[in-house]
Amino acid sequence: MAGSTNLTIRHGASAVHVRHGVNRVRGLIKTQFERASSSSPVRRIMRRRVIGKRLILAYHGVIPHTASGAGERGLFIGERDFADHLDMLSTLAEVVPLAALDTGDNGRPRVAITLDDAYSGAVNEGVRELAKRSLPATIFAAPGRLNGHVFWWDALADGKGKLDNAVRNHALHVLKGADEEVRAWARESGLPTSDALPPYARSASVGELAAALEYPGITVGSHSWSHRNLACLELADIIRDARRSRAWLHAQFGDKAIDWFAYPYGLRSGAAFRALADASYVGALRIGGGWHRTSDVQAFDRPRLNVPANMSVAGLRARLVGVLA
Ligand SMILES: [Zn+2]
Repeated sequence: MAGSTNLTIRHGASAVHVRHGVNRVRGLIKTQFERASSSSPVRRIMRRRVIGKRLILAYHGVIPHTASGAGERGLFIGERDFADHLDMLSTLAEVVPLAALDTGDNGRPRVAITLDDAYSGAVNEGVRELAKRSLPATIFAAPGRLNGHVFWWDALADGKGKLDNAVRNHALHVLKGADEEVRAWARESGLPTSDALPPYARSASVGELAAALEYPGITVGSHSWSHRNLACLELADIIRDARRSRAWLHAQFGDKAIDWFAYPYGLRSGAAFRALADASYVGALRIGGGWHRTSDVQAFDRPRLNVPANMSVAGLRARLVGVLA
């Protein structure tokens, strides 16, 4: 974001015009925030509300500093905002690898970070911000949709970056969230689509994903093979899909591939739970929910707090502390 803020500071009889860059203002806000959030009452409230619980955060795309909005806007957080979220999380919680979420406990709230869809901006700029802070995270990738893919929901978003609800529902529940079917329907129906998206809003290449996984603590899990709505599929079809994506990720990325799964669109079914257990996964994530005790939830239906583009640091902090979630 470009721009600056003009402030007039009155000191005694003199007026001094000070031009602050946005970064300076953000820095001041951050410092005040950090001071407040590190105060003992906040930590006490937090410990009481979330003791023994776990929180998994779901991000999607990350917009690089110099880029402007594209695709379905609600899915893409600015790099600066993402960095601010990470700084706050580091201050208030123990950010741990997803695979270590349920083991160990040093008394601090335990949080895992996930990034769905392997958007190029998340795999490059997002992972860069994580690595700067030595924070772990898991990228959930659909192998059949890597290498510059434009997802149908981004192609069908309108000029304001919104996807019409009727279009979304038809695509998800009638067309099973299958990219080829949604695009064929859009063509036949004369719906405007745009594939002219900037690189950050397309899926990463296999090479970009491999480079991200070189950083300590960055792992990859399965987001199914081709990002269909599993709730519409038969058991045998889901088993085939889940095995295929798991085998590919292991063959490609070795021990950087973990046996966790994130449901495309957060949609799942009893058949999906059985299929993932059959395909040797250890856990699966939905979208929705927040803090939870591991013993209170099914391993293949773990809640996850979705972090939309417009969630402020204060909003995320409130959910982290347990006030809103
Ligand atoms: Zn997804």
